[in-house]
Amino acid sequence: MSVVNFIEENNIRGFLADDEGCALHALALSVSGYGPCLEVGSYCGKSTIHIGSACREVGNTLYALDHHRGSEEHQLGEEYHDPELYDKSSECMDSFPQFRKAVSLAELDDTVVPIVSSSSVVLKHWMTPLGMVFIDGGHSPEVALADVMGWSQHIVSGGYMAIHDIFEDPNDGGQGPFIAMMSLFDKGKFEILDKVNSLGILRKR
Ligand code: MG
Repeated sequence: MSVVNFIEENNIRGFLADDEGCALHALALSVSGYGPCLEVGSYCGKSTIHIGSACREVGNTLYALDHHRGSEEHQLGEEYHDPELYDKSSECMDSFPQFRKAVSLAELDDTVVPIVSSSSVVLKHWMTPLGMVFIDGGHSPEVALADVMGWSQHIVSGGYMAIHDIFEDPNDGGQGPFIAMMSLFDKGKFEILDKVNSLGILRKR
């Protein structure tokens, strides 16, 4: 079964389009010799399955980082709130149970390493060089910029950074990820390689 069909049949939630997922899968296949992959913003595991299944194929590892408390837009009363992910007892969003179920269902327990924390905390002592990083965490300009700049330093030469929700036109969506991508490009260490739907793909020189 294809990854796209698996996600559809098992109702894995998420905001990643099929063409974006397939592009991430292809990138992850190509970086097997460069180092492990890392994603920021796993939510219920949709991108995790796309990237993770490629990592499993080539014997690589995916670090899946998310505090699982939801972004701003997932909170109670916000546009993308999902009541099924709201933990009434703690009065918090909690996407970790769904995430864990999805990873097991996809048989990725030996490939995906969940990191339940915020990106800034994990960045403090991160040492492992990475072949590819996928950024889909907080979408405010401040948070997107901190994620993109922070993680870009750990990507090996020739490795990739992919950023979700790139909208050049403010009428299409928030500008945080786009601003972060252009700031990284302006630093000169990354070239913009491709754009698939709203997925921006950069390569470290
Ligand atoms: Mg997104």
